[in-house]
Amino acid sequence: MQFKDLTGTDQPRHLFQVFMGRVFMAVFLLCALGLSGFAAPLEADITLTQLANEGVIISDGETRILIDGMVVEPYSVYGGLPPEVAPLFEQVSGPFAGIDLVLASHRHHDHNQPLFACQFLQSSSATRFVSSPQVIGLMREKCRTFMTTSPRVDEINPQYGEPHVIQMEGARVTIFPLSHGTRKYARIQNYGHLIEMGGVTLLHIGDAAMDPQDFARAGLDKVEIDVALIPFWYFHPGPGSEVMTKFLDAPNKIAVHIPPGEMDEIKGYMSEEFPQVIILQNTLDQARFSATHQPQP
Ligand SMILES: [Zn+2]
Repeated sequence: MQFKDLTGTDQPRHLFQVFMGRVFMAVFLLCALGLSGFAAPLEADITLTQLANEGVIISDGETRILIDGMVVEPYSVYGGLPPEVAPLFEQVSGPFAGIDLVLASHRHHDHNQPLFACQFLQSSSATRFVSSPQVIGLMREKCRTFMTTSPRVDEINPQYGEPHVIQMEGARVTIFPLSHGTRKYARIQNYGHLIEMGGVTLLHIGDAAMDPQDFARAGLDKVEIDVALIPFWYFHPGPGSEVMTKFLDAPNKIAVHIPPGEMDEIKGYMSEEFPQVIILQNTLDQARFSATHQPQP
């Protein structure tokens, strides 16, 4: 897999290269796959596989990107990997095999667990890791030599108006800051990730604060998103609704970061209030998306 980093260069006029052309999205299949399902080639353009909390694998069958997915143990009310899936992570097999790029939104342990992350990256031979100084700083405490010497580890520090862009063979990834909040959260480096793969534009926001000004500052008013991963608290009455209307109004929304103990309650609420929003309830549940370009008139 060839990578070419474009930080500071090739900057599109509107911060992000806005996805061109109208795209009609369809959720083809929403299903719980048995573990054997991963042996079969994927028919769909883009498959999103749910891990713990905001952990997902995004794949077109060739290029595989893992976001916030190096999480194995439960943390606070948030989940880890179930006992039948954790060994696959440790062996870098099944859904965890062949990951080209790993990303982590921020340093909180429901998004990245340093010891497991160190083991995962050292067990893979070609997986590349790109994240913030804070995430990498915590991992250095667990595997200093690897983190400081491996050419597969990239510490980045994107700023508002200066995103970090990774051009891969099968995907383009744009990484940019989104505030985690104020007070004790003000200094947390939280990154949004815009993934363009197979004609589908997908947004992962980490634990972005429900702050419309911050989303505007990040330039997200200029991006057309096909699939938005949205923390479930955005759907509660309050500031989340404005952010969703203005910045996350994707035809496909997935509610994420749902604590296992609250799953039934939140599913009940969502089916009443937001029946169109996808919830991937169990680890390794998948959603598939396809882009078909509108025929020329
Ligand atoms: Zn979180």
